[in-house]
Amino acid sequence: MDDSLLVDAGTGIELLNMEQMLAIRDVVITHAHIDHIIGLPLMLATIYDQHKEPINLYALPEVIEALEQHIFNWTIWPDYTCLPEERPIISLHKINVGDTLELQGKKIEALPANHPTPTVGYLVSDENTSFAFSGDSGINDVLWPILNDRKPDLLIIDVSFTDEVDELARLSGHLTPSHLADQLQQLEHHARIMITHLKPGFEDTIMQQCRKVLPDWQIDRLHHGDLITV
Ligand SMILES: [Zn+2]
Ligand SMILES: [Zn+2]
Repeated sequence: MDDSLLVDAGTGIELLNMEQMLAIRDVVITHAHIDHIIGLPLMLATIYDQHKEPINLYALPEVIEALEQHIFNWTIWPDYTCLPEERPIISLHKINVGDTLELQGKKIEALPANHPTPTVGYLVSDENTSFAFSGDSGINDVLWPILNDRKPDLLIIDVSFTDEVDELARLSGHLTPSHLADQLQQLEHHARIMITHLKPGFEDTIMQQCRKVLPDWQIDRLHHGDLITV
Protein backbone atom coordinates (compact mmCIF):
# COMPACT_ATOMS: atom_id res chain seq x y z
CA MET A 1 0.00 0.00 0.00
CA ASP A 2 2.53 2.54 1.22
CA ASP A 3 6.10 1.45 0.87
CA SER A 4 6.14 0.04 4.37
CA LEU A 5 2.55 -1.08 5.08
CA LEU A 6 1.10 -4.18 3.47
CA VAL A 7 -2.58 -5.20 3.43
CA ASP A 8 -2.66 -8.99 2.98
CA ALA A 9 0.20 -11.07 1.67
CA GLY A 10 -0.98 -12.98 -1.37
CA THR A 11 0.75 -13.75 -4.63
CA GLY A 12 1.32 -10.03 -5.25
CA ILE A 13 4.37 -10.31 -2.98
CA GLU A 14 6.17 -11.96 -5.90
CA LEU A 15 6.13 -8.60 -7.68
CA LEU A 16 8.23 -6.97 -4.95
CA ASN A 17 11.99 -6.75 -5.23
CA MET A 18 14.34 -7.26 -2.27
CA GLU A 19 14.50 -3.57 -1.42
CA GLN A 20 10.69 -3.28 -1.37
CA MET A 21 10.34 -6.39 0.81
CA LEU A 22 12.91 -5.10 3.28
CA ALA A 23 11.01 -1.81 3.56
CA ILE A 24 7.83 -3.52 4.87
CA ARG A 25 7.36 -2.79 8.57
CA ASP A 26 3.70 -3.64 9.20
CA VAL A 27 1.35 -6.20 7.67
CA VAL A 28 -2.40 -6.30 8.29
CA ILE A 29 -4.10 -9.54 7.28
CA THR A 30 -7.83 -9.87 6.51
CA HIS A 31 -8.13 -13.64 6.99
CA ALA A 32 -6.26 -16.92 6.84
CA HIS A 33 -7.30 -18.17 3.39
CA ILE A 34 -4.20 -19.15 1.46
CA ASP A 35 -4.56 -16.57 -1.31
CA HIS A 36 -4.16 -13.88 1.38
CA ILE A 37 -1.17 -15.30 3.24
CA ILE A 38 0.83 -17.39 0.78
CA GLY A 39 3.32 -14.63 0.07
CA LEU A 40 4.20 -14.11 3.73
CA PRO A 41 6.20 -17.27 4.60
CA LEU A 42 8.00 -17.04 1.27
CA MET A 43 8.86 -13.38 1.83
CA LEU A 44 10.21 -14.04 5.34
CA ALA A 45 12.53 -16.72 3.99
CA THR A 46 13.70 -14.39 1.24
CA ILE A 47 14.58 -11.49 3.53
CA TYR A 48 15.62 -13.58 6.55
CA ASP A 49 19.35 -12.89 6.55
CA GLN A 50 19.03 -9.25 5.53
CA HIS A 51 16.21 -7.82 7.61
CA LYS A 52 17.00 -5.31 10.34
CA GLU A 53 13.74 -4.51 12.14
CA PRO A 54 11.06 -7.10 13.04
CA ILE A 55 7.90 -7.02 10.93
CA ASN A 56 4.69 -6.53 12.91
CA LEU A 57 1.67 -8.50 11.70
CA TYR A 58 -1.88 -7.72 12.83
CA ALA A 59 -4.90 -10.01 12.40
CA LEU A 60 -7.90 -11.54 14.17
CA PRO A 61 -7.02 -14.03 16.95
CA GLU A 62 -8.31 -16.94 14.84
CA VAL A 63 -6.02 -15.88 11.99
CA ILE A 64 -2.98 -15.61 14.26
CA GLU A 65 -3.75 -19.06 15.67
CA ALA A 66 -4.13 -20.49 12.15
CA LEU A 67 -0.75 -19.05 11.13
CA GLU A 68 0.88 -20.51 14.24
CA GLN A 69 -0.74 -23.94 13.91
CA HIS A 70 -0.72 -24.45 10.17
CA ILE A 71 2.10 -22.38 8.67
CA PHE A 72 4.80 -21.51 11.23
CA ASN A 73 4.76 -25.00 12.78
CA TRP A 74 8.17 -26.38 11.71
CA THR A 75 6.43 -28.78 9.30
CA ILE A 76 4.95 -26.53 6.65
CA TRP A 77 7.49 -23.79 7.40
CA PRO A 78 9.94 -22.75 10.13
CA ASP A 79 8.48 -20.84 13.06
CA TYR A 80 9.72 -17.39 12.17
CA THR A 81 8.10 -15.93 15.29
CA CYS A 82 11.13 -17.22 17.20
CA LEU A 83 13.81 -16.95 14.52
CA PRO A 84 16.44 -15.68 14.78
CA GLU A 85 16.38 -16.32 18.52
CA GLU A 86 17.86 -12.99 19.57
CA ARG A 87 15.48 -10.94 17.40
CA PRO A 88 12.66 -12.78 15.60
CA ILE A 89 11.86 -11.57 12.11
CA ILE A 90 8.11 -11.33 12.71
CA SER A 91 5.87 -10.49 15.64
CA LEU A 92 2.17 -11.48 15.58
CA HIS A 93 -0.46 -9.19 17.16
CA LYS A 94 -4.13 -10.02 17.74
CA ILE A 95 -6.81 -7.46 16.90
CA ASN A 96 -10.61 -7.52 16.92
CA VAL A 97 -13.37 -6.13 14.72
CA GLY A 98 -13.80 -2.45 15.55
CA ASP A 99 -10.22 -1.97 16.75
CA THR A 100 -8.25 0.93 15.29
CA LEU A 101 -4.50 0.61 14.88
CA GLU A 102 -2.24 3.61 14.50
CA LEU A 103 0.60 2.68 12.18
CA GLN A 104 2.96 4.97 10.35
CA GLY A 105 0.76 8.03 10.76
CA LYS A 106 -2.34 6.22 9.54
CA LYS A 107 -5.40 4.94 11.33
CA ILE A 108 -6.39 1.42 10.37
CA GLU A 109 -9.80 0.28 11.55
CA ALA A 110 -10.82 -3.39 11.37
CA LEU A 111 -14.21 -3.61 9.62
CA PRO A 112 -16.72 -6.48 9.83
CA ALA A 113 -16.83 -8.90 6.89
CA ASN A 114 -19.05 -11.86 5.95
CA HIS A 115 -16.97 -14.84 4.87
CA PRO A 116 -16.88 -18.55 5.83
CA THR A 117 -13.81 -18.05 8.03
CA PRO A 118 -13.16 -15.17 10.49
CA THR A 119 -12.41 -12.15 8.31
CA VAL A 120 -12.12 -8.38 8.54
CA GLY A 121 -11.87 -5.55 6.08
CA TYR A 122 -9.85 -2.43 6.80
CA LEU A 123 -10.50 1.29 6.67
CA VAL A 124 -7.23 3.18 6.22
CA SER A 125 -7.21 6.90 6.81
CA ASP A 126 -4.89 9.82 7.41
CA GLU A 127 -5.68 13.52 7.77
CA ASN A 128 -6.20 13.93 4.02
CA THR A 129 -7.93 10.86 2.69
CA SER A 130 -9.31 7.44 3.43
CA PHE A 131 -10.14 4.21 1.72
CA ALA A 132 -11.95 1.05 2.73
CA PHE A 133 -11.03 -2.48 1.72
CA SER A 134 -13.86 -4.97 2.13
CA GLY A 135 -11.66 -8.03 2.57
CA ASP A 136 -13.22 -11.16 1.14
CA SER A 137 -16.89 -10.70 1.88
CA GLY A 138 -20.34 -11.60 0.66
CA ILE A 139 -23.48 -9.61 1.41
CA ASN A 140 -22.66 -7.66 4.54
CA ASP A 141 -25.35 -5.26 5.71
CA VAL A 142 -23.50 -4.23 8.89
CA LEU A 143 -20.70 -2.63 6.85
CA TRP A 144 -22.68 0.18 5.24
CA PRO A 145 -23.68 2.20 8.33
CA ILE A 146 -19.99 2.27 9.28
CA LEU A 147 -18.96 3.47 5.81
CA ASN A 148 -21.76 6.07 5.84
CA ASP A 149 -20.18 7.44 9.00
CA ARG A 150 -16.53 7.28 7.85
CA LYS A 151 -17.20 8.30 4.21
CA PRO A 152 -14.11 6.81 2.54
CA ASP A 153 -13.07 8.35 -0.79
CA LEU A 154 -12.41 4.93 -2.26
CA LEU A 155 -13.91 1.50 -1.67
CA ILE A 156 -11.97 -1.56 -2.78
CA ILE A 157 -14.44 -4.43 -2.82
CA ASP A 158 -14.53 -8.16 -3.53
CA VAL A 159 -16.65 -9.08 -6.55
CA SER A 160 -15.39 -12.58 -7.26
CA PHE A 161 -18.15 -14.03 -9.38
CA THR A 162 -20.45 -13.26 -12.30
CA ASP A 163 -24.21 -12.99 -11.83
CA GLU A 164 -24.62 -16.46 -13.35
CA VAL A 165 -23.25 -18.17 -10.21
CA ASP A 166 -25.27 -16.33 -7.57
CA GLU A 167 -25.59 -19.38 -5.31
CA LEU A 168 -21.86 -20.17 -5.39
CA ALA A 169 -21.10 -16.55 -4.48
CA ARG A 170 -23.47 -16.70 -1.50
CA LEU A 171 -22.06 -20.03 -0.28
CA SER A 172 -18.43 -18.95 -0.57
CA GLY A 173 -18.89 -15.46 0.91
CA HIS A 174 -18.20 -13.29 -2.11
CA LEU A 175 -20.24 -10.79 -4.13
CA THR A 176 -21.61 -10.82 -7.67
CA PRO A 177 -22.15 -7.58 -9.62
CA SER A 178 -25.88 -7.62 -8.77
CA HIS A 179 -25.12 -8.15 -5.08
CA LEU A 180 -22.76 -5.16 -5.25
CA ALA A 181 -25.48 -3.01 -6.83
CA ASP A 182 -27.89 -3.98 -4.05
CA GLN A 183 -25.30 -3.32 -1.37
CA LEU A 184 -24.31 0.08 -2.76
CA GLN A 185 -27.90 1.27 -2.41
CA GLN A 186 -27.05 1.48 1.29
CA LEU A 187 -24.03 3.74 0.71
CA GLU A 188 -25.06 7.38 0.97
CA HIS A 189 -22.11 8.88 -0.91
CA HIS A 190 -20.66 7.92 -4.28
CA ALA A 191 -17.20 6.71 -3.35
CA ARG A 192 -14.92 5.64 -6.15
CA ILE A 193 -15.16 1.84 -6.49
CA MET A 194 -12.35 -0.57 -7.31
CA ILE A 195 -13.21 -4.22 -7.89
CA THR A 196 -10.84 -6.88 -6.64
CA HIS A 197 -10.64 -10.69 -6.21
CA LEU A 198 -12.16 -11.34 -9.67
CA LYS A 199 -12.25 -15.02 -10.62
CA PRO A 200 -9.50 -15.69 -13.16
CA GLY A 201 -10.92 -16.02 -16.66
CA PHE A 202 -14.06 -14.03 -15.80
CA GLU A 203 -12.51 -10.61 -15.18
CA ASP A 204 -13.97 -8.91 -18.26
CA THR A 205 -17.46 -10.35 -17.74
CA ILE A 206 -17.50 -9.30 -14.08
CA MET A 207 -16.43 -5.76 -14.97
CA GLN A 208 -19.02 -5.51 -17.78
CA GLN A 209 -21.76 -6.70 -15.45
CA CYS A 210 -20.67 -4.25 -12.72
CA ARG A 211 -20.74 -1.30 -15.11
CA LYS A 212 -24.14 -2.35 -16.45
CA VAL A 213 -25.84 -2.55 -13.05
CA LEU A 214 -24.04 0.53 -11.68
CA PRO A 215 -23.95 3.03 -14.57
CA ASP A 216 -23.70 6.08 -12.29
CA TRP A 217 -20.62 4.94 -10.36
CA GLN A 218 -16.94 5.26 -11.15
CA ILE A 219 -15.85 1.63 -11.20
CA ASP A 220 -12.38 0.35 -12.02
CA ARG A 221 -10.62 -2.93 -11.66
CA LEU A 222 -7.76 -3.31 -9.20
CA HIS A 223 -4.90 -5.11 -10.93
CA HIS A 224 -1.92 -6.79 -9.34
CA GLY A 225 0.74 -4.20 -8.75
CA ASP A 226 -1.58 -1.21 -9.19
CA LEU A 227 -0.52 1.93 -7.40
CA ILE A 228 -3.64 3.56 -5.98
CA THR A 229 -3.74 7.30 -5.51
CA VAL A 230 -6.59 8.64 -3.38
ZN1 LIG B 1 -11.28 -15.90 1.49
ZN1 LIG C 1 -9.52 -14.62 -1.18
